[in-house]
Amino acid sequence: MNNETVNGKENIRCLIVGGGPAGYTAAIYAGRANLSPVLYEGLQPGGQLTTTTVIENFPGFPGGVDGATLMADLRKQAIRFGADIHSGVVTATDLSTKPLKVWIDGQTELEADSLIIATGATAKYLGLPDETKYAGQGVSACAVCDGFFYRKKAVAVVGGGDTACEEALYLASLAKQVYLIVRKPFLRAGKVMQDRIFAASNITVLFEHNAVGLYGEHGVEGVHLVKRMGESNETKTDLPIDGFFLAIGHTPNSEPFRQWLDTDHTGYIRTLDGTPRTHLPGVFAAGDVADPIYRQAVTAAAAGCKAALEAERYLASL
Ligand code: NDP
Repeated sequence: MNNETVNGKENIRCLIVGGGPAGYTAAIYAGRANLSPVLYEGLQPGGQLTTTTVIENFPGFPGGVDGATLMADLRKQAIRFGADIHSGVVTATDLSTKPLKVWIDGQTELEADSLIIATGATAKYLGLPDETKYAGQGVSACAVCDGFFYRKKAVAVVGGGDTACEEALYLASLAKQVYLIVRKPFLRAGKVMQDRIFAASNITVLFEHNAVGLYGEHGVEGVHLVKRMGESNETKTDLPIDGFFLAIGHTPNSEPFRQWLDTDHTGYIRTLDGTPRTHLPGVFAAGDVADPIYRQAVTAAAAGCKAALEAERYLASL
């Protein structure tokens, strides 16, 4: 089932957008099913996993595996089975017609019989003007990317979930002191993660604190904190730090598809009956873009597999 060229335009049988575990796994399955998949990976080939530390919970790696290595291997595996991989970001779609239409980087128009959306999710920021002011000068949403710059320095991580704890632990292996800024009086992270945080001698958890601004002449030199105790009682402090890391969750990258698909209030694409099927025949969503709950590499990969199997069935029915 090769792709055809009609009126000079390639008609793609199975178009996959997204270069994370869901997209690459979909490409492996679609390639092996002879669907000649075409995959567009965005600005961060490999997706969020390329910015994580050692992944200890991906099955089959008893000693853990580095995220970037895992993603590079998945990509190679997809290419081995014939996936045609390109770089480019989906900027618009028309999913109301057949073939489906997808625009890449605002110009290239693609036509496809089936579409697997695997565009993942992006890290959230607090929305403070200072995050923009100090972008690249001490503000980061990726400890693995930027932690190196803070060896033997003091950093703060905002968030109380597993990501925040993972980032704090990673930074604690490099920095002199790590402050974990948590807005609630408890951590949302799992028990194992919490135990590791409380056991680390250079991590201080600041419960019920909010970061409200940053200061510094030459990049970040500190964070303005507010500790709220009750309705009207609050204490303000300035905490000297060199780096400010955000780890407060993610936004699904579903924007170019929302007009045509059902999404929840955050923008996660709703799929049908625990499958990657959307209510539009031939359009499937897999991985973090459709998963507000599990958001794991292994669940994304599994969803990518299911999406490719669904696409194969759909294409056979045409
Ligand atoms: P979560 O949604 O689990 O946690 C987000 C954290 O950020 C919460 O503590 C939340 O506070 C806080 N937060 C959100 N908005 C703000 C804000 N405006 N100001 C201050 N704090 C804020 O996201 P994660 O990215 O940590 O995790 C996502 C999923 O991925 C989870 O299911 C997690 O278990 C999983 N995960 C698993 C890992 C692993 O197993 N190795 C590693 C990383 C993630 P509040 O609690 O008050 O809402």
